[in-house]
Amino acid sequence: DTIGAALDATAREHANREALVIPSEGVRWTWAELRERADELAAGLLAMGLQPGDRVGIWAPNCSAWTLTQFATARAGLILVNINPAYRASELAYALHKVACCALVLAPALKTSDYLAILRGVAPELDHCEPGQLQAVALPELRWVVRLGEERTPGMLNFADVSARATPAARERLAAIGPRLKARDPINIQFTSGTTGHPKGATLTHRNILNNGFFVGEAIRLTPADRLCIPVPLYHCFGMVMGNLACVTHGSTMVYPSEAFDSAAVLRTVQAERCTALYGVPTMFIAALDHPDFASTDLRTLRTGIMAGSPCPIEVMKRVQSQMNMGEVTIAYGMTETSPVSTQSAVDDPLERRVSTVGRVQPHLEIKIVDADGRTVPRGTVGEFCTRGYSVMQGYWGDAEKTAEAIDAEGWMHTGDLATMDDEGFVNIVGRLKDMVIRGGENVYPREVEEFYYRHPKVQDVQVVGVPDAKYGEVLCACIVVKPGLRCTADELRAFAQGQIAHYKVPAYFEFVEALPMTITGKIQKFVLREQMTKKLG
Ligand code: ATP
Ligand code: MG
Repeated sequence: DTIGAALDATAREHANREALVIPSEGVRWTWAELRERADELAAGLLAMGLQPGDRVGIWAPNCSAWTLTQFATARAGLILVNINPAYRASELAYALHKVACCALVLAPALKTSDYLAILRGVAPELDHCEPGQLQAVALPELRWVVRLGEERTPGMLNFADVSARATPAARERLAAIGPRLKARDPINIQFTSGTTGHPKGATLTHRNILNNGFFVGEAIRLTPADRLCIPVPLYHCFGMVMGNLACVTHGSTMVYPSEAFDSAAVLRTVQAERCTALYGVPTMFIAALDHPDFASTDLRTLRTGIMAGSPCPIEVMKRVQSQMNMGEVTIAYGMTETSPVSTQSAVDDPLERRVSTVGRVQPHLEIKIVDADGRTVPRGTVGEFCTRGYSVMQGYWGDAEKTAEAIDAEGWMHTGDLATMDDEGFVNIVGRLKDMVIRGGENVYPREVEEFYYRHPKVQDVQVVGVPDAKYGEVLCACIVVKPGLRCTADELRAFAQGQIAHYKVPAYFEFVEALPMTITGKIQKFVLREQMTKKLG
Protein backbone atom coordinates (compact mmCIF):
# COMPACT_ATOMS: atom_id res chain seq x y z
CA ASP A 1 0.00 0.00 0.00
CA THR A 2 0.98 3.65 -0.34
CA ILE A 3 0.56 6.35 2.29
CA GLY A 4 -1.96 8.10 0.05
CA ALA A 5 -4.08 4.96 -0.18
CA ALA A 6 -3.97 4.54 3.60
CA LEU A 7 -5.19 8.11 4.09
CA ASP A 8 -7.95 7.52 1.59
CA ALA A 9 -9.10 4.33 3.31
CA THR A 10 -9.19 5.97 6.75
CA ALA A 11 -10.93 9.08 5.40
CA ARG A 12 -13.67 6.83 4.02
CA GLU A 13 -14.00 4.54 7.03
CA HIS A 14 -13.67 7.18 9.75
CA ALA A 15 -14.75 10.26 7.79
CA ASN A 16 -16.24 12.16 10.72
CA ARG A 17 -13.86 11.14 13.47
CA GLU A 18 -11.22 13.60 14.57
CA ALA A 19 -7.93 13.22 12.74
CA LEU A 20 -5.93 16.19 13.94
CA VAL A 21 -6.34 18.38 17.00
CA ILE A 22 -4.05 21.35 17.75
CA PRO A 23 -5.52 23.48 20.54
CA SER A 24 -2.97 26.30 20.09
CA GLU A 25 -3.96 26.70 16.42
CA GLY A 26 -7.67 26.12 16.92
CA VAL A 27 -7.41 23.14 14.54
CA ARG A 28 -9.89 20.27 14.84
CA TRP A 29 -10.07 18.40 11.52
CA THR A 30 -11.84 15.17 10.75
CA TRP A 31 -10.22 12.53 8.56
CA ALA A 32 -12.41 13.60 5.62
CA GLU A 33 -11.35 17.21 6.10
CA LEU A 34 -7.68 16.32 6.38
CA ARG A 35 -7.81 14.32 3.15
CA GLU A 36 -9.67 17.10 1.35
CA ARG A 37 -7.16 19.74 2.45
CA ALA A 38 -4.22 17.46 1.62
CA ASP A 39 -5.62 16.78 -1.85
CA GLU A 40 -6.17 20.43 -2.55
CA LEU A 41 -2.58 21.18 -1.60
CA ALA A 42 -1.33 18.15 -3.57
CA ALA A 43 -3.16 19.21 -6.73
CA GLY A 44 -1.82 22.75 -6.28
CA LEU A 45 1.75 21.48 -5.99
CA LEU A 46 1.33 19.46 -9.19
CA ALA A 47 -0.15 22.52 -10.93
CA MET A 48 3.04 24.41 -10.04
CA GLY A 49 4.84 21.94 -12.29
CA LEU A 50 6.25 19.63 -9.64
CA GLN A 51 6.54 15.98 -10.74
CA PRO A 52 6.36 12.76 -8.73
CA GLY A 53 9.85 12.06 -7.38
CA ASP A 54 10.71 15.77 -7.00
CA ARG A 55 11.96 16.75 -3.55
CA VAL A 56 9.97 19.15 -1.41
CA GLY A 57 11.58 20.36 1.81
CA ILE A 58 9.64 21.27 4.92
CA TRP A 59 11.20 23.55 7.48
CA ALA A 60 8.83 24.22 10.34
CA PRO A 61 8.15 23.11 13.89
CA ASN A 62 5.10 20.95 14.65
CA CYS A 63 1.94 22.50 13.19
CA SER A 64 -1.05 21.60 11.02
CA ALA A 65 0.77 22.71 7.86
CA TRP A 66 3.48 20.16 8.54
CA THR A 67 1.04 17.29 8.57
CA LEU A 68 -0.85 18.67 5.61
CA THR A 69 2.40 18.85 3.64
CA GLN A 70 3.30 15.31 4.71
CA PHE A 71 0.04 13.88 3.38
CA ALA A 72 -0.13 16.17 0.31
CA THR A 73 3.33 15.14 -0.86
CA ALA A 74 2.49 11.49 -0.20
CA ARG A 75 -0.70 11.77 -2.30
CA ALA A 76 1.20 13.42 -5.18
CA GLY A 77 4.25 11.14 -5.04
CA LEU A 78 6.57 14.03 -4.13
CA ILE A 79 9.47 13.16 -1.85
CA LEU A 80 9.17 15.02 1.44
CA VAL A 81 12.47 16.18 2.91
CA ASN A 82 12.41 16.83 6.65
CA ILE A 83 14.51 19.85 7.55
CA ASN A 84 15.46 20.23 11.19
CA PRO A 85 13.83 23.33 12.73
CA ALA A 86 17.07 24.01 14.61
CA TYR A 87 19.17 24.34 11.45
CA ARG A 88 20.82 27.62 10.67
CA ALA A 89 22.18 28.98 7.37
CA SER A 90 24.95 26.55 6.52
CA GLU A 91 23.03 23.44 7.61
CA LEU A 92 19.94 24.54 5.68
CA ALA A 93 21.96 25.13 2.53
CA TYR A 94 23.72 21.79 2.96
CA ALA A 95 20.50 19.79 3.38
CA LEU A 96 18.54 21.49 0.57
CA HIS A 97 21.39 21.22 -1.88
CA LYS A 98 22.38 17.69 -0.87
CA VAL A 99 19.04 16.26 -2.02
CA ALA A 100 18.33 18.95 -4.67
CA CYS A 101 15.03 20.26 -3.28
CA CYS A 102 13.05 22.18 -5.90
CA ALA A 103 10.50 23.51 -3.43
CA LEU A 104 10.61 24.49 0.21
CA VAL A 105 7.71 24.95 2.61
CA LEU A 106 8.65 27.16 5.52
CA ALA A 107 7.30 28.70 8.68
CA PRO A 108 8.36 32.34 8.31
CA ALA A 109 9.12 33.62 11.81
CA LEU A 110 8.19 32.00 15.09
CA LYS A 111 9.34 32.17 18.68
CA THR A 112 11.94 29.52 17.99
CA SER A 113 13.50 30.88 14.83
CA ASP A 114 13.31 33.50 12.10
CA TYR A 115 13.29 30.97 9.27
CA LEU A 116 12.66 33.53 6.57
CA ALA A 117 15.58 35.73 7.60
CA ILE A 118 17.89 32.71 7.52
CA LEU A 119 16.65 31.65 4.08
CA ARG A 120 17.08 35.18 2.75
CA GLY A 121 20.65 35.13 4.02
CA VAL A 122 21.32 31.99 2.00
CA ALA A 123 19.29 33.07 -1.06
CA PRO A 124 19.08 36.89 -1.24
CA GLU A 125 17.79 36.49 -4.83
CA LEU A 126 14.43 35.56 -3.28
CA ASP A 127 13.46 39.19 -2.77
CA HIS A 128 13.74 40.06 -6.45
CA CYS A 129 12.13 37.09 -8.14
CA GLU A 130 8.66 36.03 -9.18
CA PRO A 131 7.27 32.98 -7.38
CA GLY A 132 8.66 29.84 -9.03
CA GLN A 133 11.49 31.75 -10.71
CA LEU A 134 14.06 31.61 -7.95
CA GLN A 135 17.62 31.16 -9.21
CA ALA A 136 19.88 31.36 -6.20
CA VAL A 137 23.63 30.89 -6.50
CA ALA A 138 23.82 28.92 -3.26
CA LEU A 139 20.72 26.81 -4.00
CA PRO A 140 20.72 26.19 -7.76
CA GLU A 141 17.89 23.62 -7.68
CA LEU A 142 15.41 25.52 -5.53
CA ARG A 143 12.62 27.18 -7.58
CA TRP A 144 9.65 27.55 -5.22
CA VAL A 145 9.23 28.78 -1.68
CA VAL A 146 5.86 28.34 0.01
CA ARG A 147 5.26 30.06 3.31
CA LEU A 148 2.82 29.28 6.09
CA GLY A 149 0.27 31.90 7.06
CA GLU A 150 -1.87 34.35 5.14
CA GLU A 151 0.69 37.08 4.52
CA ARG A 152 2.20 37.73 1.12
CA THR A 153 5.97 37.89 0.74
CA PRO A 154 7.92 38.74 -2.44
CA GLY A 155 9.12 35.71 -4.35
CA MET A 156 6.90 33.28 -2.43
CA LEU A 157 3.49 31.72 -2.47
CA ASN A 158 1.44 31.05 0.61
CA PHE A 159 -0.73 27.97 1.18
CA ALA A 160 -3.86 29.64 -0.15
CA ASP A 161 -2.05 30.52 -3.41
CA VAL A 162 -1.03 26.89 -3.87
CA SER A 163 -4.47 25.53 -3.09
CA ALA A 164 -5.98 28.09 -5.50
CA ARG A 165 -4.09 26.35 -8.30
CA ALA A 166 -5.98 23.13 -7.59
CA THR A 167 -8.14 23.44 -10.71
CA PRO A 168 -10.29 20.54 -11.89
CA ALA A 169 -7.55 19.68 -14.37
CA ALA A 170 -4.96 19.55 -11.56
CA ARG A 171 -7.32 17.38 -9.52
CA GLU A 172 -7.61 15.02 -12.46
CA ARG A 173 -3.83 14.76 -12.69
CA LEU A 174 -3.67 13.97 -8.99
CA ALA A 175 -6.30 11.27 -9.36
CA ALA A 176 -4.32 9.73 -12.20
CA ILE A 177 -1.07 9.74 -10.24
CA GLY A 178 -2.43 7.93 -7.16
CA PRO A 179 -2.81 4.47 -8.69
CA ARG A 180 0.59 4.73 -10.41
CA LEU A 181 2.53 5.20 -7.16
CA LYS A 182 4.34 2.10 -5.93
CA ALA A 183 4.95 1.02 -2.35
CA ARG A 184 8.66 0.80 -3.13
CA ASP A 185 8.92 4.37 -4.42
CA PRO A 186 10.91 6.74 -2.18
CA ILE A 187 8.55 9.16 -0.45
CA ASN A 188 10.63 10.68 2.31
CA ILE A 189 14.19 11.73 3.09
CA GLN A 190 14.95 12.02 6.77
CA PHE A 191 18.14 13.30 8.24
CA THR A 192 19.47 11.40 11.24
CA SER A 193 19.64 13.27 14.55
CA GLY A 194 23.31 14.11 14.37
CA THR A 195 23.98 12.59 17.78
CA THR A 196 27.30 11.15 16.69
CA GLY A 197 28.30 13.70 14.05
CA HIS A 198 26.86 15.12 10.84
CA PRO A 199 23.29 14.16 9.98
CA LYS A 200 22.89 11.73 7.07
CA GLY A 201 19.87 11.73 4.71
CA ALA A 202 18.08 8.37 4.76
CA THR A 203 15.88 7.62 1.73
CA LEU A 204 12.67 5.89 2.81
CA THR A 205 9.82 4.36 0.80
CA HIS A 206 6.07 4.08 1.46
CA ARG A 207 6.67 0.42 2.33
CA ASN A 208 9.39 1.32 4.84
CA ILE A 209 7.54 3.90 6.89
CA LEU A 210 3.90 2.92 6.44
CA ASN A 211 4.58 -0.62 7.70
CA ASN A 212 6.61 0.77 10.54
CA GLY A 213 3.87 3.15 11.63
CA PHE A 214 1.33 0.34 11.41
CA PHE A 215 3.27 -2.15 13.57
CA VAL A 216 4.17 0.51 16.15
CA GLY A 217 0.45 1.24 16.49
CA GLU A 218 -0.28 -2.49 16.77
CA ALA A 219 2.19 -2.88 19.63
CA ILE A 220 0.31 -0.32 21.73
CA ARG A 221 -3.07 -1.50 20.43
CA LEU A 222 -4.22 1.78 18.94
CA THR A 223 -7.86 1.96 17.88
CA PRO A 224 -10.04 4.76 16.46
CA ALA A 225 -10.97 5.58 20.07
CA ASP A 226 -7.37 6.47 20.93
CA ARG A 227 -6.08 10.04 21.12
CA LEU A 228 -2.32 10.21 20.81
CA CYS A 229 -0.45 13.18 22.25
CA ILE A 230 2.61 13.87 20.04
CA PRO A 231 5.05 16.31 21.66
CA VAL A 232 8.02 14.88 19.72
CA PRO A 233 9.22 16.63 16.55
CA LEU A 234 7.43 15.80 13.30
CA TYR A 235 10.61 16.48 11.42
CA HIS A 236 11.90 13.27 13.05
CA CYS A 237 10.58 9.72 12.48
CA PHE A 238 9.31 9.58 16.07
CA GLY A 239 6.66 12.19 15.23
CA MET A 240 5.91 11.65 11.56
CA VAL A 241 6.08 7.84 11.40
CA MET A 242 5.50 6.49 14.92
CA GLY A 243 3.01 9.31 15.52
CA ASN A 244 1.22 10.37 12.33
CA LEU A 245 1.49 7.13 10.37
CA ALA A 246 0.50 4.97 13.36
CA CYS A 247 -2.62 7.15 13.65
CA VAL A 248 -3.54 7.09 9.97
CA THR A 249 -3.27 3.30 9.86
CA HIS A 250 -5.46 2.92 12.96
CA GLY A 251 -7.88 5.82 12.59
CA SER A 252 -6.63 7.31 15.88
CA THR A 253 -6.51 11.04 16.59
CA MET A 254 -3.23 13.00 16.39
CA VAL A 255 -2.98 15.67 19.10
CA TYR A 256 -0.12 18.24 19.09
CA PRO A 257 0.39 20.17 22.33
CA SER A 258 2.72 22.94 21.05
CA GLU A 259 5.16 23.74 18.28
CA ALA A 260 8.25 22.85 20.32
CA PHE A 261 8.51 20.71 23.44
CA ASP A 262 6.98 22.32 26.51
CA SER A 263 6.07 20.10 29.46
CA ALA A 264 3.38 22.46 30.78
CA ALA A 265 1.64 22.31 27.39
CA VAL A 266 1.92 18.51 27.32
CA LEU A 267 0.28 18.12 30.73
CA ARG A 268 -2.42 20.66 29.90
CA THR A 269 -3.19 19.03 26.55
CA VAL A 270 -3.35 15.47 27.84
CA GLN A 271 -5.89 16.56 30.41
CA ALA A 272 -7.99 18.88 28.20
CA GLU A 273 -8.03 16.56 25.19
CA ARG A 274 -8.43 13.37 27.20
CA CYS A 275 -5.43 11.75 25.51
CA THR A 276 -5.05 8.00 25.90
CA ALA A 277 -1.46 7.71 24.70
CA LEU A 278 1.69 9.82 25.00
CA TYR A 279 5.08 9.72 23.31
CA GLY A 280 8.39 11.12 24.45
CA VAL A 281 12.12 10.72 24.75
CA PRO A 282 13.32 10.07 28.32
CA THR A 283 14.22 13.73 28.96
CA MET A 284 10.66 14.79 28.09
CA PHE A 285 9.11 12.35 30.53
CA ILE A 286 11.57 13.43 33.22
CA ALA A 287 10.63 17.07 32.61
CA ALA A 288 6.90 16.30 32.78
CA LEU A 289 7.22 14.23 35.98
CA ASP A 290 9.24 16.96 37.68
CA HIS A 291 7.02 19.83 36.50
CA PRO A 292 5.24 21.89 39.21
CA ASP A 293 1.88 21.32 37.44
CA PHE A 294 2.32 17.56 37.46
CA ALA A 295 0.57 16.88 40.77
CA SER A 296 -2.53 18.87 39.85
CA THR A 297 -2.94 17.42 36.33
CA ASP A 298 -5.57 14.76 35.68
CA LEU A 299 -3.89 12.01 33.67
CA ARG A 300 -6.55 9.35 34.22
CA THR A 301 -7.33 9.02 30.52
CA LEU A 302 -3.77 7.91 29.72
CA ARG A 303 -3.30 4.22 29.05
CA THR A 304 -0.21 3.66 26.95
CA GLY A 305 2.63 5.33 25.11
CA ILE A 306 6.17 4.98 23.92
CA MET A 307 9.46 6.05 25.35
CA ALA A 308 12.25 5.85 22.78
CA GLY A 309 15.08 7.64 21.09
CA SER A 310 17.76 7.11 23.67
CA PRO A 311 18.41 4.83 26.64
CA CYS A 312 15.28 4.72 28.82
CA PRO A 313 16.29 4.60 32.49
CA ILE A 314 14.41 1.94 34.47
CA GLU A 315 13.63 4.42 37.25
CA VAL A 316 11.99 6.81 34.81
CA MET A 317 10.00 4.01 33.17
CA LYS A 318 8.73 2.91 36.58
CA ARG A 319 7.60 6.42 37.43
CA VAL A 320 5.85 6.83 34.08
CA GLN A 321 4.11 3.50 34.54
CA SER A 322 2.91 4.18 38.08
CA GLN A 323 2.66 7.99 38.43
CA MET A 324 1.42 8.92 34.96
CA ASN A 325 -1.18 6.20 34.82
CA MET A 326 0.49 4.66 31.77
CA GLY A 327 0.17 1.05 32.87
CA GLU A 328 0.72 -0.08 29.28
CA VAL A 329 3.76 2.07 28.50
CA THR A 330 6.30 0.48 26.14
CA ILE A 331 9.84 1.13 24.96
CA ALA A 332 10.76 1.15 21.29
CA TYR A 333 14.21 1.00 19.79
CA GLY A 334 15.26 1.92 16.31
CA MET A 335 16.97 4.42 14.10
CA THR A 336 16.10 6.75 11.23
CA GLU A 337 17.67 4.33 8.76
CA THR A 338 15.24 1.59 9.80
CA SER A 339 12.06 3.63 9.48
CA PRO A 340 12.65 3.69 12.60
CA VAL A 341 11.47 0.86 14.92
CA SER A 342 13.18 -2.56 15.05
CA THR A 343 12.14 -3.76 18.50
CA GLN A 344 9.34 -2.77 20.85
CA SER A 345 7.79 -4.16 23.98
CA ALA A 346 4.16 -5.24 23.80
CA VAL A 347 1.58 -3.94 26.26
CA ASP A 348 1.14 -7.44 27.72
CA ASP A 349 4.82 -8.19 28.26
CA PRO A 350 5.64 -8.57 31.96
CA LEU A 351 6.16 -5.13 33.50
CA GLU A 352 9.67 -5.94 34.66
CA ARG A 353 10.73 -6.71 31.06
CA ARG A 354 8.85 -3.73 29.71
CA VAL A 355 10.77 -1.26 31.86
CA SER A 356 14.18 -2.86 31.52
CA THR A 357 14.46 -3.97 27.86
CA VAL A 358 13.62 -2.54 24.44
CA GLY A 359 11.26 -5.45 23.83
CA ARG A 360 11.36 -8.00 21.04
CA VAL A 361 11.68 -7.88 17.28
CA GLN A 362 8.75 -6.30 15.41
CA PRO A 363 6.66 -8.65 13.23
CA HIS A 364 8.15 -9.55 9.82
CA LEU A 365 11.62 -8.25 10.64
CA GLU A 366 14.80 -10.20 11.25
CA ILE A 367 17.40 -9.23 13.81
CA LYS A 368 20.76 -10.65 14.80
CA ILE A 369 23.57 -9.67 17.14
CA VAL A 370 27.07 -10.16 15.78
CA ASP A 371 30.69 -9.93 16.90
CA ALA A 372 33.43 -7.94 15.17
CA ASP A 373 33.83 -10.74 12.59
CA GLY A 374 30.15 -10.78 11.75
CA ARG A 375 29.39 -14.06 13.57
CA THR A 376 26.16 -14.29 15.56
CA VAL A 377 26.98 -14.24 19.28
CA PRO A 378 25.43 -16.53 21.94
CA ARG A 379 22.41 -15.25 23.91
CA GLY A 380 23.45 -12.78 26.59
CA THR A 381 26.66 -11.74 24.85
CA VAL A 382 27.20 -8.16 23.70
CA GLY A 383 27.50 -7.54 19.96
CA GLU A 384 26.38 -5.22 17.20
CA PHE A 385 22.64 -5.12 16.49
CA CYS A 386 21.76 -5.83 12.83
CA THR A 387 18.35 -5.95 11.21
CA ARG A 388 16.83 -6.90 7.85
CA GLY A 389 13.38 -6.58 6.31
CA TYR A 390 10.74 -4.07 5.25
CA SER A 391 12.12 -1.37 7.54
CA VAL A 392 15.61 -1.01 6.08
CA MET A 393 16.01 2.25 4.13
CA GLN A 394 16.77 2.34 0.44
CA GLY A 395 20.08 4.04 1.25
CA TYR A 396 21.63 7.38 2.09
CA TRP A 397 20.55 9.83 -0.61
CA GLY A 398 23.32 10.28 -3.15
CA ASP A 399 25.87 8.44 -1.05
CA ALA A 400 26.49 4.91 -2.32
CA GLU A 401 29.67 4.62 -0.29
CA LYS A 402 28.07 5.35 3.10
CA THR A 403 25.12 3.13 2.15
CA ALA A 404 27.45 0.21 1.44
CA GLU A 405 29.13 0.71 4.82
CA ALA A 406 25.77 0.50 6.58
CA ILE A 407 23.87 -2.17 4.60
CA ASP A 408 25.76 -5.33 3.64
CA ALA A 409 25.34 -7.42 0.49
CA GLU A 410 22.73 -9.63 2.19
CA GLY A 411 20.57 -6.65 3.14
CA TRP A 412 21.50 -6.45 6.83
CA MET A 413 21.58 -2.96 8.30
CA HIS A 414 24.50 -2.61 10.72
CA THR A 415 23.25 -0.18 13.33
CA GLY A 416 26.41 0.65 15.28
CA ASP A 417 24.45 -0.10 18.45
CA LEU A 418 25.63 -2.68 20.98
CA ALA A 419 23.00 -5.07 22.28
CA THR A 420 22.30 -8.37 23.98
CA MET A 421 19.37 -10.75 23.55
CA ASP A 422 18.04 -13.08 26.24
CA ASP A 423 16.54 -16.57 25.82
CA GLU A 424 13.08 -15.21 25.26
CA GLY A 425 14.19 -12.73 22.62
CA PHE A 426 14.09 -9.58 24.72
CA VAL A 427 16.77 -7.14 23.60
CA ASN A 428 18.85 -4.80 25.69
CA ILE A 429 20.71 -1.89 24.15
CA VAL A 430 23.93 -1.47 26.06
CA GLY A 431 25.21 1.54 24.15
CA ARG A 432 26.70 2.70 20.92
CA LEU A 433 29.82 1.14 19.47
CA LYS A 434 31.26 4.66 19.25
CA ASP A 435 30.52 5.38 22.93
CA MET A 436 32.11 2.27 24.38
CA VAL A 437 35.03 3.15 26.62
CA ILE A 438 38.04 0.87 26.79
CA ARG A 439 39.69 1.44 30.15
CA GLY A 440 42.96 -0.41 30.46
CA GLY A 441 41.64 -3.27 28.31
CA GLU A 442 38.23 -3.51 30.03
CA ASN A 443 35.18 -2.65 27.93
CA VAL A 444 32.87 -0.31 29.81
CA TYR A 445 29.42 0.59 28.55
CA PRO A 446 28.58 4.11 29.78
CA ARG A 447 24.91 3.17 29.84
CA GLU A 448 25.41 0.74 32.71
CA VAL A 449 27.16 3.36 34.83
CA GLU A 450 24.49 5.93 33.97
CA GLU A 451 21.74 3.54 35.08
CA PHE A 452 23.56 3.10 38.35
CA TYR A 453 23.79 6.83 39.04
CA TYR A 454 20.18 7.51 38.07
CA ARG A 455 19.39 5.73 41.35
CA HIS A 456 21.25 8.36 43.37
CA PRO A 457 18.70 10.61 45.10
CA LYS A 458 20.47 13.86 44.18
CA VAL A 459 21.10 13.06 40.52
CA GLN A 460 18.66 14.47 38.00
CA ASP A 461 20.53 13.54 34.85
CA VAL A 462 23.84 11.84 34.16
CA GLN A 463 25.97 11.07 31.13
CA VAL A 464 29.19 9.11 31.12
CA VAL A 465 31.89 9.55 28.47
CA GLY A 466 35.46 8.39 27.99
CA VAL A 467 38.36 10.84 28.18
CA PRO A 468 41.97 10.10 27.21
CA ASP A 469 44.27 8.99 29.99
CA ALA A 470 48.02 8.39 29.97
CA LYS A 471 47.88 5.28 32.15
CA TYR A 472 44.64 3.52 31.13
CA GLY A 473 44.22 4.80 27.58
CA GLU A 474 40.75 6.03 28.50
CA VAL A 475 38.95 6.64 31.77
CA LEU A 476 35.34 7.45 32.61
CA CYS A 477 34.01 10.91 33.23
CA ALA A 478 30.50 11.32 34.65
CA CYS A 479 28.74 14.58 33.84
CA ILE A 480 26.12 15.19 36.48
CA VAL A 481 23.11 17.49 36.57
CA VAL A 482 22.11 17.82 40.23
CA LYS A 483 18.43 18.07 41.18
CA PRO A 484 17.29 21.66 41.64
CA GLY A 485 18.13 23.12 45.05
CA LEU A 486 20.44 20.27 46.11
CA ARG A 487 24.21 20.16 46.50
CA CYS A 488 26.38 17.18 45.76
CA THR A 489 30.10 16.37 45.77
CA ALA A 490 32.33 14.03 43.78
CA ASP A 491 33.35 12.22 46.98
CA GLU A 492 29.74 11.50 47.77
CA LEU A 493 29.19 10.00 44.31
CA ARG A 494 32.38 7.99 44.50
CA ALA A 495 31.39 6.57 47.88
CA PHE A 496 27.95 5.66 46.48
CA ALA A 497 29.63 3.24 44.05
CA GLN A 498 31.80 1.61 46.73
CA GLY A 499 31.13 -2.12 46.76
CA GLN A 500 28.23 -1.66 44.33
CA ILE A 501 29.90 -1.71 40.92
CA ALA A 502 33.29 -2.99 39.76
CA HIS A 503 36.12 -0.57 40.51
CA TYR A 504 36.95 -0.01 36.83
CA LYS A 505 33.39 1.20 36.22
CA VAL A 506 33.62 3.92 38.85
CA PRO A 507 34.23 7.21 37.02
CA ALA A 508 37.63 8.80 37.52
CA TYR A 509 36.02 12.22 37.17
CA PHE A 510 32.71 13.69 38.27
CA GLU A 511 31.91 16.96 36.53
CA PHE A 512 28.90 18.99 37.61
CA VAL A 513 27.11 20.71 34.74
CA GLU A 514 24.03 22.92 34.44
CA ALA A 515 22.68 21.17 31.37
CA LEU A 516 23.69 18.59 28.78
CA PRO A 517 24.26 19.39 25.09
CA MET A 518 21.17 18.21 23.23
CA THR A 519 19.86 17.77 19.72
CA ILE A 520 16.42 19.16 18.95
CA THR A 521 15.01 15.63 19.29
CA GLY A 522 16.03 15.77 22.94
CA LYS A 523 19.00 13.47 22.56
CA ILE A 524 22.19 14.07 24.38
CA GLN A 525 25.13 14.68 22.08
CA LYS A 526 27.76 12.52 23.68
CA PHE A 527 30.32 13.49 21.08
CA VAL A 528 30.00 17.16 22.11
CA LEU A 529 30.26 16.23 25.77
CA ARG A 530 33.28 14.02 25.04
CA GLU A 531 34.99 16.91 23.23
CA GLN A 532 34.22 19.33 26.07
CA MET A 533 35.46 16.97 28.76
CA THR A 534 38.55 15.98 26.78
CA LYS A 535 39.45 19.63 26.41
CA LYS A 536 38.96 20.20 30.10
CA LEU A 537 40.48 17.05 31.58
CA GLY A 538 42.44 15.26 28.86
P1 ATP B 1 23.35 10.16 14.05
O1 ATP B 1 23.16 8.86 13.36
O2 ATP B 1 23.22 11.33 13.12
O3 ATP B 1 24.55 10.25 14.90
P2 ATP B 1 21.22 9.28 15.82
O4 ATP B 1 21.79 7.93 15.62
O5 ATP B 1 20.95 9.73 17.22
O6 ATP B 1 22.13 10.38 15.09
P3 ATP B 1 18.55 8.64 15.17
O7 ATP B 1 18.41 7.82 13.96
O8 ATP B 1 17.52 9.66 15.48
O9 ATP B 1 19.89 9.44 15.04
O10 ATP B 1 18.66 7.74 16.47
C1 ATP B 1 18.88 6.36 16.45
C2 ATP B 1 19.73 5.94 17.63
O11 ATP B 1 19.12 6.28 18.88
C3 ATP B 1 19.94 4.46 17.68
O12 ATP B 1 20.98 4.04 16.80
C4 ATP B 1 20.25 4.23 19.16
O13 ATP B 1 21.63 4.46 19.43
C5 ATP B 1 19.44 5.30 19.87
N1 ATP B 1 18.20 4.74 20.43
C6 ATP B 1 16.97 4.81 19.89
N2 ATP B 1 16.05 4.23 20.68
C7 ATP B 1 16.70 3.75 21.75
C8 ATP B 1 16.32 3.02 22.94
N3 ATP B 1 15.06 2.70 23.18
N4 ATP B 1 17.29 2.69 23.81
C9 ATP B 1 18.57 3.02 23.58
N5 ATP B 1 18.99 3.70 22.49
C10 ATP B 1 18.09 4.06 21.59
MG1 MG C 1 22.59 6.98 13.95
